[in-house]
Amino acid sequence: FSKNSGRSRYTYFSESMDQLLSRRQEMEGDMRAALKTGNEFQVHYQPIISALDHRVKGYEALLRWEHPKFGSISPELFIPIAEETGMIEAVGEFVLREACKAAAKWSGKSVAVNVSGVELRDEGYAAKVRKILLSTGLSPQALELEVTETVATDEASAVVANLDALRAIGVQIAIDDFGTGFSSLGRLRTLNVDRIKIDRSFVQGFGEKAGDEAIIRAIVELAHARGLKTTAEGVETSLQDAGLVKIGCDSLQGFLYSKPVPLRDIEHISTPAGSPS
Ligand code: C2E
Ligand code: MG
Ligand code: MG
Ligand code: MG
Repeated sequence: FSKNSGRSRYTYFSESMDQLLSRRQEMEGDMRAALKTGNEFQVHYQPIISALDHRVKGYEALLRWEHPKFGSISPELFIPIAEETGMIEAVGEFVLREACKAAAKWSGKSVAVNVSGVELRDEGYAAKVRKILLSTGLSPQALELEVTETVATDEASAVVANLDALRAIGVQIAIDDFGTGFSSLGRLRTLNVDRIKIDRSFVQGFGEKAGDEAIIRAIVELAHARGLKTTAEGVETSLQDAGLVKIGCDSLQGFLYSKPVPLRDIEHISTPAGSPS
């Protein structure tokens, strides 16, 4: 390596790091401003389908940020920024309130809301959820909170106390993206939750990679042995749909049925397109 090439590479690297940093700072400031008005944030809803009859049984709330300059920013990008800057509490409260308000008007359909570990480490979280349920009139049984495996296995006392308090009033707890975290299948024996959402990476290999089908089978069997329900995420083909139904997954979610859509559009999704009758 010549000194020069090393040097120019270093310069290039540091410049792009600078750019990344300033763009991130810009985003941070914009998020703070957007949270005040609420105008750029919108909650979208993706149907969750019963595997028994392919009817919509509920929706997952997914946050969207339409930035005036950058366009639509993925939650995979802005949620971590919100977590690191303390804005996640306001973000989470916004989504939860919107979702509960919407679900209170649906008859018999539930709503699932993603919760960050940062929110659950706040001792007042369960009380905050209860307040929002009361003010929106949604029954706790119609609310499901999705947490990651890491959060579900967190032994921090506030996390455990919040999850216990929420389950005690009837709120459902689901483990999101199951299979991507550190915990082993054996961990399913002791987890104090109501539902397992099987990560879409396994669902996508269905019918192509024999191993993925075996993993889904094992997760569903273990979950059912413990009385937990299962949802398969990221269902995109009718081949996956048929296989998951056969295995005995309880619920299905994915682009095959519908993408996440704005609230005003969900009245139109009663029988999902693409599902067998
Ligand atoms: P997640 O909770 O696992 O949500 C499922 C993600 O998969 C969503 O991406 C959804 O649009 C996408 N998806 C659904 N069906 C399919 C499919 O068939 N194929 C493919 N390829 N993708 C599918 P999205 O909306 O971009 O959200 C990404 C992640 O951001 C979420 O993953 C969740 O972890 C996080 N997130 C979104 N909204 C919130 C929120 O309000 N609060 C928190 N804390 N996190 C959120
Ligand atoms: Mg989720
Ligand atoms: Mg997921
Ligand atoms: Mg995910």
